[in-house]
Amino acid sequence: MVLAACRPVGTERVGLADAAGRVLAVAPEVTTPLPPFANSAMDGFALRASDVPAGGGRLPLDPGVLAGTDPPRLRPGFAVPIATGGPIPDGADTVIPIENAARADGYVTLPGGLAPGAHVRLAGSDLPPGPSPLTVGLPLDPAAGAVLAAIGAIEIEVYRHPVVTILATGSELVPPHVTPGPAQIRDANSTALGWAHTRAGAALRQVGIATDDTQTLRRLLEDALRADLVITCAGVSVGERDLVRTTLADLGVEPRFWGIDLKPGKPVAFGIADGIPVIALPGNPASALVCSTLIAEPATRARAGWSVPAPQWEPAIAGDDWPAAEGRVHAVRCRLKADGSSLVASPTGDQRSHRIGSMVGADALALIEPERHVAPGSSVRITRTP
Ligand code: AMP
Ligand code: MG
Repeated sequence: MVLAACRPVGTERVGLADAAGRVLAVAPEVTTPLPPFANSAMDGFALRASDVPAGGGRLPLDPGVLAGTDPPRLRPGFAVPIATGGPIPDGADTVIPIENAARADGYVTLPGGLAPGAHVRLAGSDLPPGPSPLTVGLPLDPAAGAVLAAIGAIEIEVYRHPVVTILATGSELVPPHVTPGPAQIRDANSTALGWAHTRAGAALRQVGIATDDTQTLRRLLEDALRADLVITCAGVSVGERDLVRTTLADLGVEPRFWGIDLKPGKPVAFGIADGIPVIALPGNPASALVCSTLIAEPATRARAGWSVPAPQWEPAIAGDDWPAAEGRVHAVRCRLKADGSSLVASPTGDQRSHRIGSMVGADALALIEPERHVAPGSSVRITRTP
């Protein structure tokens, strides 16, 4: 339901150097094949395979081909020294590596039984002309950078960063640089969520901290709604001062759901105002971050144009120390360890939702079905939390 409400927000053109991590909006075409000309895969000798007798033989040498030089046509019955990346001269079809040949007195002695085409990289054998392997919605990684540079795509159409606003709520909260007074705590969630969503492709705007009164909430939420995606945390449960949902409704945010069958994360709410998705996360830090991983970061990635925004699941083997069965789906913070060819997931300790410590060192979330007791060695599904 959340992803269905999260379309990419628009595109812009950026230079190659600024495109790292951006999400491709228009797939580039390969116009010139890669490599553009047949060239040698080895330092060796270029020749025509049929010029070497089956039992091996000796060919006279012509001057060599360096990388970056355009060679003359190969004379029949001759070989030429060639460097890796050097263009294969017309008339040659094979390269014999230096290691397999002996050069002396203007001749090279070669083994027989040569396979025509050996150690020749044909034009287009890397990327033929036509659609490139880079598809719309791909976050551009260094490999994509290599493709873009190699095909000369120096200006790239990428999706715009969606503006994501984050609003923390709670009269007990102070910013991290303020020493908390009695009954106050520092706002941990704005930083955690801010970092998570920046990584997911957001242009972040922190709206601040709203106290638990309708007037302040309304003022800051109104500000937060000038965005492509709004994320609030806390004040969304059943407490007397949990005013986020009613204030959102007052501001015209149409509620879509409230309450999910997940631990931690039961009170998550979702609504839409004029096409702007609003996700209200719970306040407990582990709840906020777990629900951000499973629900809110996918929303940011979808608005940022990722073609696969949802968490990806993979199997793992359960390690030790699993918490007791829960009545709801349980998102368990886990550490991953390789054991032979399998991946072992072990919980990070006490999983109560106020525990920031339960998230430290976690590599993944395991999603455990309601009422399931996890036996060590059994199979669980996990999603990595980079
Ligand atoms: P609430 O959802 O408002 O009932 O808050 C649940 C718990 O999360 C309370 O213990 C809050 O003090 C705590 N909490 C709420 N917001 C934050 C925040 N931004 N940083 C750290 N803890 C928070
Ligand atoms: Mg509160």
